[in-house]
Amino acid sequence: MTRMAPPPGSGCRDIPVLRERGQREVFCGLTGIIWLHRKMQDAFFLVVGSRTCAHLLQSAAGVMIFAEPRFATAILEETDLAGMADAQEELDREVARLLERRPDIRQLFLVGSCPSEVIKLDLGKAAERLSREHAPHVRVLSYDGSGIETTFTEGEDACLAAMVPVLPETQARELLLVGALPDVVEDQALSLLSAMGIERVRCLPARRADEMPGVGPETVFALTQPFLGGTRDALMRRGARHIAAPFPFGEEGTTAWLAAIAAEFDVPREQFEAATDAPRDRARRAVAAATEMLNGKRIFFFPDSQLEIPLARFLTRECGMEAVEIGAPYIRQDVVGPDMDLLAPGPVLSEGQDVDLQLDRARAARADLTVCGLGLANPLEAEGLATKWAIELVFTPVHFYEQAGDLAALFARPLRRRAALKLEAA
Ligand code: SF4
Repeated sequence: MTRMAPPPGSGCRDIPVLRERGQREVFCGLTGIIWLHRKMQDAFFLVVGSRTCAHLLQSAAGVMIFAEPRFATAILEETDLAGMADAQEELDREVARLLERRPDIRQLFLVGSCPSEVIKLDLGKAAERLSREHAPHVRVLSYDGSGIETTFTEGEDACLAAMVPVLPETQARELLLVGALPDVVEDQALSLLSAMGIERVRCLPARRADEMPGVGPETVFALTQPFLGGTRDALMRRGARHIAAPFPFGEEGTTAWLAAIAAEFDVPREQFEAATDAPRDRARRAVAAATEMLNGKRIFFFPDSQLEIPLARFLTRECGMEAVEIGAPYIRQDVVGPDMDLLAPGPVLSEGQDVDLQLDRARAARADLTVCGLGLANPLEAEGLATKWAIELVFTPVHFYEQAGDLAALFARPLRRRAALKLEAA
């Protein structure tokens, strides 16, 4: 059976949140291109940025490029930055060259960066103009991935939110799954929903441009990632309705997420159980196998991926961990509220970051495991703290029943490594 939620009022939804607005240590929203370009097979991401942006993408994606790349950087040179060249004209020329060379491109995203934001290059206007020019074969959209205001998972949110206004109108009663899951994980979700009798399911983003879903007043949608608040708002502006639920991490989260959808579609209890009993059992056993190392250990989350609250829920309720601090870049109750309801009070909930103050708290806490960005991990490891890179959590398949054991194992691995090093040193 699913563990019962804490009684009303005993979750974390109403506890005071520590809000900090200081220096932050996170990757920028360009990082999302690494997983988005693999998901959307006929899309291309053209970053309008600097050599730094190009290096970030190359080093983040370097080992993952196995086919013709579907992203590039149009470098803004010093003349552009000084306002001496017409960057819009140059962009038009770059895009024309690219589309001539690559007729397989059906969707082109112009991705804004810090430099394009600084010189106030209007990429929205450029996208409209280029869309008119290259329609109907290619649709051009724009979004901002700059590090001035975005954290790394906000890139996906901005990309999906940019797509929502151009989705076709539909009156069909359909379920929309929102979030760029690896294909194999998405297929698992579709097969679970199909076993529950829910067949009219579409995905945003779709794998190809001509499979993009419609949206309308009969659309209900479930988010698969907690960082998609902007996309949620955009879909609601189109008349769609959000099915709020805990996120599908671990056995409990997956069951609660599916149960919320089942309630919306009046799935009979017996059918729900027939579809979920066996995979639930597998998930429970897989989590238990990985949990030995996690049980009783303390964990500290720096704000990074926006997955922190649902993951803390999974690790405390299913893996026996104790959360000391759960930092998240943003806490939107309309998105993560159902996970907060399940989190027992105790940990500090913090939103935003003032990195020096938070480092002081992490050092004082000396948790068994600290989840943080790459930039903080090495210094903290050098100080003897075991760390987990938050970015791995979005590069690794972690959703739904079949990945529950892998998700727990991701957190167990650094602890196991540290234990082995201690043994060697002894
Ligand atoms: Fe750096 Fe900004 Fe480019 Fe990101 S967008 S790589 S933060 S310059």
